[in-house]
Amino acid sequence: MPTTTPTLNVVLLGCGTVGAEVARILAEDEAELTARTGARLALAGVGVRDTSKDRGPHVSPSIVTDRLDELVDRADVVVELMGGLDPAGGLIERALRAGKTVVSANKALIAARLGQLSAAAAESGVQFSYEAAVAGAIPILRPIRDSLAGDRITSIMGIVNGTTNYVLDSMTTTGAGFEEALATAQELGYAEADPTADVDGHDAAAKAAILASLGLHTTFPLEEVHTEGIRSVTAEDIASAKAAGYVIKFLAIAERVSRGAEESAAVRVHPTLIPEDHPLASVRGAFNAVYVQAENAGELMFMGQGAGGAPTASAVMGDLVSAARRVVAGGPGRTETADRALPALPFEQTRTRFAVSVAVEDEPGVLADIARVFADHGQSIESMVQTRGLDGEQRPVAELRIITHDGLEGDLRATVDDIHGLPAVTRRPTFMRVGGN
Ligand code: NAP
Repeated sequence: MPTTTPTLNVVLLGCGTVGAEVARILAEDEAELTARTGARLALAGVGVRDTSKDRGPHVSPSIVTDRLDELVDRADVVVELMGGLDPAGGLIERALRAGKTVVSANKALIAARLGQLSAAAAESGVQFSYEAAVAGAIPILRPIRDSLAGDRITSIMGIVNGTTNYVLDSMTTTGAGFEEALATAQELGYAEADPTADVDGHDAAAKAAILASLGLHTTFPLEEVHTEGIRSVTAEDIASAKAAGYVIKFLAIAERVSRGAEESAAVRVHPTLIPEDHPLASVRGAFNAVYVQAENAGELMFMGQGAGGAPTASAVMGDLVSAARRVVAGGPGRTETADRALPALPFEQTRTRFAVSVAVEDEPGVLADIARVFADHGQSIESMVQTRGLDGEQRPVAELRIITHDGLEGDLRATVDDIHGLPAVTRRPTFMRVGGN
């Protein structure tokens, strides 16, 4: 008997930076999302303040409304991307109490009302997920909540605010003072015109409360997060930290502290000196990262983009797919979805850069011959360094170390074969692949 694919009505509350990207992904990746979930995810409504604004090619004006209650009532899955405590909080609670699955990215709301909203979800037996609320695209809440649920997390340290990491990083690399670095960040769009929530630490404090609550299995109130921003960090502080082998990072820290049989949670947000070789020290620019220590897993590091429409929408979509699978299956639903038959690409056809070493007799014209062989095989050279010396019989020899641009493995092998055949080449050239580009 043919089975029909069920349709899930997804409503978006909010269609700004993140919401518009979620609408785009729902439209562009419709077939793939159906394969992942077993349902058609239909954008059934979009709730906003201003219904006259154009919402782009992926949102038909006919589904845009400012009557958000009504939208919630006809949704299967509610995706809240409006921000703020209210009306977002009331709408989420209304949806959860009506047995609807909810996805949100609203760190302020979740930090303030996680216990209440989780209880409403548990009572209705529905999923409430908010991966995007902490560190944007980085999958961190699910690993903490699920993957590490059988371990004991002892501490979490996170660079969870891209603006402040950008400002401190540029103070570190340029020697600029706080005001100057902040002004540059604002010019480049890394900081808001009103940077208070970022530089005074309120944004990071909300994320610290969420990380602490999930990681330490408690309900950690936002008011208890000790919060100091980065306004007081000076160029001199950065320079003297550097001289001592440290960098200053703005960290959200959640630690389990044991005193005898008593345990407590120490949760705080402040500028912190960390050793230059600590994994968090290498997190540059507006990137985020979270470093977790657990009793059995040891050290774990998660890094990625902490904000922006598409990166944040990626985390929202992950929650949405997981939620949709549950709604369709009444349980975890599809997990491995091998719906595509991807053949293995032959190794010769893989593309990468190469580092090639060629030993030659140091004669005129050799370099040109070698460069020509690379060109004949479509391999372009990025850099070439030559070191000269004498061989055992005191003849002048040279070692060429060549780095190529991206090329095919098969072409590089053919290049090496041909170079080996040149009269001035004294042994078979060797090569390694260059990664990280
Ligand atoms: P945004 O660009 O300001 O968009 C907010 C949207 O919500 C707008 O469409 C707005 O409608 C609508 N809205 C706000 N208040 C409303 C109300 N009272 N009634 C009806 N509609 C309302 O915000 P965003 O940057 O997309 O952020 C959305 C959420 O994601 C926030 O909770 C934020 O903290 C979180 N988040 C954002 C990022 C990021 O990089 N942007 C990263 C992580 C998490 P109008 O368009 O009509 O004004």
